[in-house]
Amino acid sequence: MITGKINVIEGDITQLSVDAIVNAANTSLLGGGGVDGAIHCAAGPGLLAECRGLNGCETGDAKITQGYNLPADWVIHTVGPVWRDGNHGEDALLASCYYRSLELAKQNNIRNIAFPAISTGAYGFPPERAARIAVGTVKQVLAEKTTIEQVIFVCFSKQSYNHHQQTVQEIITNK
Ligand code: ADP
Repeated sequence: MITGKINVIEGDITQLSVDAIVNAANTSLLGGGGVDGAIHCAAGPGLLAECRGLNGCETGDAKITQGYNLPADWVIHTVGPVWRDGNHGEDALLASCYYRSLELAKQNNIRNIAFPAISTGAYGFPPERAARIAVGTVKQVLAEKTTIEQVIFVCFSKQSYNHHQQTVQEIITNK
């Protein structure tokens, strides 16, 4: 059953004791604002040092590092698309962020993983549309044979929480 594997919570992703948290990074992987800044701040300088050796990351792709001072063991850094008008491949690139992150999770035997709402902050992706892509892509991956036991959507506002909760109900629970 996929339903029991997906959770939506409101909170700060840096506080979670899970195998891996996902970072909504930028292509440099050298830190930024929003959730990226919060993750680097909580993880400490070891994270930035490891990121320096990764040579950046393309939009829609993901790279993995250790978690350093975070409660999470791993950080999966993915780069979401900057929203333009929806006609520049934004949907597919956002789906790819979730897909590639889960692929890396599987390769590293990660069993529980937490995602922020990628691209919905500074990158301006419409939040309800982003939630549908996030939940839909996770559903697709969990339907395949996978070692992943739990995916948590970590929402930073009540509104984001409601979008994700509603979307999970629409495309998972009520199916
Ligand atoms: P992007 O550049 O991909 O839009 P942002 O970090 O600006 O990335 O925002 C992505 C989402 O992460 C937004 O919904 C924002 O509210 C949320 N966010 C910011 N800080 C945290 C945090 N500490 N934990 C979880 N989510 C966060």
